[in-house]
Amino acid sequence: NDRLVLASPETATDQNYADIERVIAHEYFHNWTGNRITCRDWFQLCLKEGLTVFRDQEFTSDVRSQAVKRIEDVRTLRARQYPEDQGPLAHPVRPASYIEINNFYTPTVYEKGAELCRMMQTLIGKPAFRKAMDLYFVRHDGEAATVEDFVRCMADASGRDFTQFFRWYEQAGTPVVEVETKHDAATQTFELTVSQSTPPTPGQTEKLPQHIPLALGLVDPRGNDLPLHLEGVGALNAPLVELTSARQVYRFTGIAQRPVLSLNRGFSAPVIVRSDAKAADHLFLMGRDSDGFNRWESAQSLARDLFCAAATGLRDATPLPDARPFAEALGHTLSDPKADVAFKALMLELPSEADIAARIGTDVNSDHVREGRNALRSSIARVLLPLLENAYAVTAEAGGYRADTRGTGRRSMRFAALSLIAAADTERGLYLARAELAQPANMTIEIGALQAVLATSAAETLLEQFLARHRDDHLLVDKWLALSAQIPLPGASARVEALTTHPLFTWTTPNRVYALVGGLGSNLAGFHAADGEGYRVVADAIIRLNAINPQVAARMATGFRSWRQFDPARRAQAERQMRRVVETPGLSPDVFEIITRTLN
Ligand SMILES: [Zn+2]
Repeated sequence: NDRLVLASPETATDQNYADIERVIAHEYFHNWTGNRITCRDWFQLCLKEGLTVFRDQEFTSDVRSQAVKRIEDVRTLRARQYPEDQGPLAHPVRPASYIEINNFYTPTVYEKGAELCRMMQTLIGKPAFRKAMDLYFVRHDGEAATVEDFVRCMADASGRDFTQFFRWYEQAGTPVVEVETKHDAATQTFELTVSQSTPPTPGQTEKLPQHIPLALGLVDPRGNDLPLHLEGVGALNAPLVELTSARQVYRFTGIAQRPVLSLNRGFSAPVIVRSDAKAADHLFLMGRDSDGFNRWESAQSLARDLFCAAATGLRDATPLPDARPFAEALGHTLSDPKADVAFKALMLELPSEADIAARIGTDVNSDHVREGRNALRSSIARVLLPLLENAYAVTAEAGGYRADTRGTGRRSMRFAALSLIAAADTERGLYLARAELAQPANMTIEIGALQAVLATSAAETLLEQFLARHRDDHLLVDKWLALSAQIPLPGASARVEALTTHPLFTWTTPNRVYALVGGLGSNLAGFHAADGEGYRVVADAIIRLNAINPQVAARMATGFRSWRQFDPARRAQAERQMRRVVETPGLSPDVFEIITRTLN
């Protein structure tokens, strides 16, 4: 896959550079975790992949920004692994059975597998984790190991019991953690009641409680973390509680004023937190939390609620929610001199259509999701417009291209700002984007400018010009196909179907297919269009690919995994197309497994 090895500023974006750095590091780290110590059998795949992903995440975190890296990884986990874990394809990090092992190179094995390593590090602390890794390398060098061998090293190096923790490897599904808080001024106590449950997944109806490390802080009104004294335990060494039962109560003493709870800091556990926090608490944490991840998380949960209300409001004919307090808090972050620029850029990226659909959960109307999101996003952008113009002005390209943290951060801020400027004022956005595209100094600028105006009527013309400049570069043809498929305007499936007959498209090159057909799959309102055409076009592609490359066909088939989230009419259309695929003569086991699991 040369996309992940070769790059020049004229053809590769900052994201491509970061991906190359990550992938090369990953493959290098496999020298120990994968090659010198390999897996006893395929069921242990997470032993090498989850652990090696964790190692490459830590590498990137060390050489770039820690909070930014954590936010990006959690975003990936939620976009790729959560839908898998909550849908028909859910399986444990260590699967108990499989039809086709190629179908198990999954986000659960890789990304959730990495989260399990991270949780063990959180539970025993970095020094003990380092000791455990050294022990693992000494004890098993040259061997074919199992997950049990690895976890035993964690236990032996730390003296901790990992019996319950091991369930994370065997039990599928994303645990839901519910939180209630109560402050009592008279006794100066803050009571935290936490309960957990994991919804049933295919083949696993009964779930046991998990061992969940929850990093936390109690934040006073000035934004300082209060000392944590847990009743019955005393002062906590690490700001962490361990949830092991279905329900536990933690009582913190010496808390005079009502604090704001900051829970699951740094995303210490891959769970879904449902708390009784109020909008005011989220607004406060957005600006004041000492944990960078939770500043972003507070903004996201607030934004998700607002965007859900906007989408469901279209169904119920209620007015657009008031986003001004949220927009103003975002404005404070933009003006915060202490926050780094890549972090600010991430704060400006509002929840995606898929995030909003997942948050609504059932009977989703994808047109309402898009329309509500566009309307609310414009209203937020209009509040922020002067700040966005300023952010745009101070991030102009100066000097030669460098894919370092500073250059990358500056450009991500520039195009996050441009995208919102275009949402507030289409003409202004187009004017700036055209100026960028007139003489682009590097590919990050070209892609950033195109993405910023992809929702405008000028998108198709600008994409044609992009193709005219770059039609000889196969990596850029892929980018052109992906952007064309993602245009968030009506007619997406027809555009994609027409492009399958374009002379530059070919069914036999996986990256072409991922760009175009996969691009449609990630275009929420296009793929889940009410007329069923998105489903039909992808089903046609799967049937065609089945005969050419079953693995690619199976990967495209996973696009259907969230079909049950949608309204009855859409579900019926999706089901009809999946049945058509299953009834195809000569269907490969790869596709058969994915589609039948998705249907049942
Ligand atoms: Zn790997």
